[in-house]
Amino acid sequence: YAAKAAGSQLMIYTAELDESADAAAQLGADLRHSLDDGDFRVVYQPIVELTTTRFEAVEALVRWHHPVRGFVSPVDFIPVAEDNGLIVELGEFVMRTSCHKFAGWRRDLGAAAPSYISVNVSARQLREPEFPDVVAAILAECGLEPAALLVEVTETALFGGGTAVHAVETLHRTGVRIALDDFGTGHSSLGLLRTVPVDVLKVDKSFVDEIIAGGGRAVIVDALIHVSKGLGLRAVAEGVETAEQAAYLRELGYEYAQGYFFGKPVPEPDFTPRALVVDQA
Ligand code: C2E
Ligand code: MG
Ligand code: MG
Ligand code: MG
Repeated sequence: YAAKAAGSQLMIYTAELDESADAAAQLGADLRHSLDDGDFRVVYQPIVELTTTRFEAVEALVRWHHPVRGFVSPVDFIPVAEDNGLIVELGEFVMRTSCHKFAGWRRDLGAAAPSYISVNVSARQLREPEFPDVVAAILAECGLEPAALLVEVTETALFGGGTAVHAVETLHRTGVRIALDDFGTGHSSLGLLRTVPVDVLKVDKSFVDEIIAGGGRAVIVDALIHVSKGLGLRAVAEGVETAEQAAYLRELGYEYAQGYFFGKPVPEPDFTPRALVVDQA
């Protein structure tokens, strides 16, 4: 009986595995079609300077309008695109689209334009030997200097060193700036800061979430601003949703933040890449 029970459990387990493997394979095939059909868009979210609420920078985030399922979250499809390698093509699309858009804002707005564009890059892209050259070519075709681009990578993407770290070093040498995204949630956070050239720490939303109205000290955001300042890095607090959080972060010494409180990611036609006007009272 025990053997039979174990057997049926095993069957259920593999059936579930098959199902999720099928679903991922289907999603992967859909990604391929959607890349050919142009179903991907880039949306833009402001990064603001807390003291002035000036529009400091813009993060580019990809959106997929699936022909049947409609909105599918990047949280669900980015891992699939990483597994089947399509992230290389998709990532290049996001990089090219957002750099061109940013160059256009600069032309239109001059000094009032945000100072850099922030683009997420996955480990799979960093491991492509051509990646630094592709980035350089995109910057050249847009007429942007390397410092106009900030590449966001996760700690986990750089964990264990190797090619991904090499690519980051190469990019950084050319003048492209590097951010550690979701900082504090991945592997080996603090050690990485010594071995990888990093300019910006994006302090993960989960730590900002600890700042609740009337609550006690939010220990990690407090610690991370000291780490950032001590190492001469810029800190950007992610996922700021309330005026209380913005005010608290400013009190702790944070200069930059991003979140629904300041602006949600929106498609280009709705996005006005010029300054401010957020009531932080
Ligand atoms: P991320 O790079 O950490 O981006 C921040 C995510 O938090 C975005 O979700 C953004 O819409 C969301 N967000 C921003 N402010 C708030 C807030 O105040 N509250 C809440 N609840 N959420 C907020 P999104 O666009 O769904 O992207 C999720 C993740 O998918 C990104 O996290 C990034 O890791 C990945 N991703 C998105 N676009 C790309 C891309 O073009 N390439 C790569 N490789 N990854 C991407
Ligand atoms: Mg990011
Ligand atoms: Mg993040
Ligand atoms: Mg995140």
